[in-house]
Amino acid sequence: MATNGEWGVLSSDDFSNLDVLNKVAPEAVEGILSSCEMRSLEKGSVLIEAGTVSDHLYLILEGELQVFVANDSSIPPISLTVGETVGELSVIDHHSSSALVVATQFTRVLVVPEAMFWRLIDVSHEFARNMLILLSHRMRTDNTLLQESISVKNMFELQSTLDPLTGLHNRRWIDLNLPKLINRSLFGKEPLSIMMIDIDHFKNVNDTFGHLKGDVVLRMVAKTIGDSIRPLDFACRFGGEEFLVIFPQTSAENARIPAERIRRNVEWRSRERMEELGTPEVTVTGGVTTLYGNDSGSKSEQLMEQIIASADHALYNGKESGRNRIIQE
Ligand code: GH3
Ligand code: MG
Ligand code: MG
Repeated sequence: MATNGEWGVLSSDDFSNLDVLNKVAPEAVEGILSSCEMRSLEKGSVLIEAGTVSDHLYLILEGELQVFVANDSSIPPISLTVGETVGELSVIDHHSSSALVVATQFTRVLVVPEAMFWRLIDVSHEFARNMLILLSHRMRTDNTLLQESISVKNMFELQSTLDPLTGLHNRRWIDLNLPKLINRSLFGKEPLSIMMIDIDHFKNVNDTFGHLKGDVVLRMVAKTIGDSIRPLDFACRFGGEEFLVIFPQTSAENARIPAERIRRNVEWRSRERMEELGTPEVTVTGGVTTLYGNDSGSKSEQLMEQIIASADHALYNGKESGRNRIIQE
């Protein structure tokens, strides 16, 4: 009975605070709500365990609950306060909760069992309407969170395959992608060339000009390599002062052209920018090798090791025979 501003177990303040009871006639739901249990939660108590099926809707009358998405610490917890509800999805679809719900302070909730939830829907159009609004709001928030977490994940993935100093693809990117490019070239029966590049006498640059200027040179060489290749080629930092360029669909004869262009551009640009950058003139030596689409029989990872070893060998020969040159094998 509604007496002295009390609606069953709810005070009139509780009633007017609850979003799901907005515009609901108190007389229509009083009997149902008065049969629901009130529960008090101390700070830190768990209301819903992740992975369990909860067949209750909880209306928050006092305090605060936090919702933690299970298995994803990148999503910050969502806070629910007085007037809000929790547990509605589980009540409707009977799926287990993907979230852990914890009280962050002394909290009071009204526990509406599943049967009572459906009776509220039956007796009050306003209650049903409020539930629809609430669920569509939840869906929108979930989608936004999902999109945010996907873009954060993509960003981390991208960052972890980029070399921070030069902005080129790093060794991890090579390990992930060169085998795929090799497979594609085998499948398409097309050649693929790679070029291993090493800066000549780079230790002298560091020793004479310091490591910071050494880094400036590394960035200048990286940029020159990037500017000297086609959009479909890949420039990578292999490690230290060594770079790897991948030329898909490129024969040995055609790889010679960009390889020579890279060598010449580094020589020119480092001379051109000596004064501005305060760095010395540098040159590079390159080893180029080509895989032909019919070189099958081995796994792509093995072929990757073989072509890198072969390009390295050519590079070594370039160093031995005087540096600042391209050797192919
Ligand atoms: P070579 O012509 O035979 O290649 O001689 P080199 O001096 O270039 O070869 P070496 O392998 O002796 O030296 C490579 C140097 O590259 C040594 C190392 O300190 C330097 N180095 C590697 N990574 C970095 C880096 O990120 N920044 C700087 N500044 N130096 C680096
Ligand atoms: Mg080296
Ligand atoms: Mg070197």
